[in-house]
Amino acid sequence: MNLTIGHLYPDLLNLYGDRGNIQCMMKRCQWRGIGAETIIFEIDDEIDFSKLDIVLLGGGSDREQMLVCDRLKSIRKDFKEYVENNGVVIAVCGGFQLLGNYYATADGVIEGLGIVDLETDRGTDYRLIDNIVLKSDLFSMPVVGFENHGGRTNIKNNKPFGKVIYGSGNDGKSGYEGVIYKNVIGTYLHGPLLPKNPQVCDYLIQKALERKYGQTIELAPLDDKEEKEANDYIYNRFKGKVSKPQNQEQLV
Ligand code: GLN
Repeated sequence: MNLTIGHLYPDLLNLYGDRGNIQCMMKRCQWRGIGAETIIFEIDDEIDFSKLDIVLLGGGSDREQMLVCDRLKSIRKDFKEYVENNGVVIAVCGGFQLLGNYYATADGVIEGLGIVDLETDRGTDYRLIDNIVLKSDLFSMPVVGFENHGGRTNIKNNKPFGKVIYGSGNDGKSGYEGVIYKNVIGTYLHGPLLPKNPQVCDYLIQKALERKYGQTIELAPLDDKEEKEANDYIYNRFKGKVSKPQNQEQLV
């Protein structure tokens, strides 16, 4: 068995080590004897989604998102088809926002891919910056990470990725974080997300293999002692505390 991961536009969208998510997926495949390769697409490259099993869309500054926006229009149709056909996507922060209909920034509206019905408006007060802990129905372990975003995302009737235990989440108010749509996870969690949350990584690998090979897949367990200890440490450090974004005084 083997998987091909497409990393979209790391030349522009690669904030806070999003690339580490790729390494984590590759390693967790290879440790199990599953072949894994990554294709990096820079902004002018053609993308053949039929060759991809997992797509990573990382985070970026408003400026970089604006630069990517034009290019997205030309891949929208193929990307949407891939998603509707149960293609696996992990979209982080700026990438999460770009899955939606638009992101309205202080300098204008960035048109999104319109793949998931969600919308993002720039907050008028402060950025939401802090550690974050979630509980997601999909995983027994809590999901831990770090968030840093000016945008406030409304996921409408979509299912969230998790419920916020500590941190701000999609908009600092709803109590929810991220989105799940078919085999797409959109989330504000940087970190990188996957090394800190091996169950999330395995979920993506499993979904991608099931789609590709048309059968139920049970992944061989790995020794996640250190990953679990690190995750547990963060969970215990923040659970029960009240989140206060670190720089509330900073206007955006
Ligand atoms: N520029 C977006 C925002 O500030 C996304 C940031 C990010 O990817 N960290 O909301």
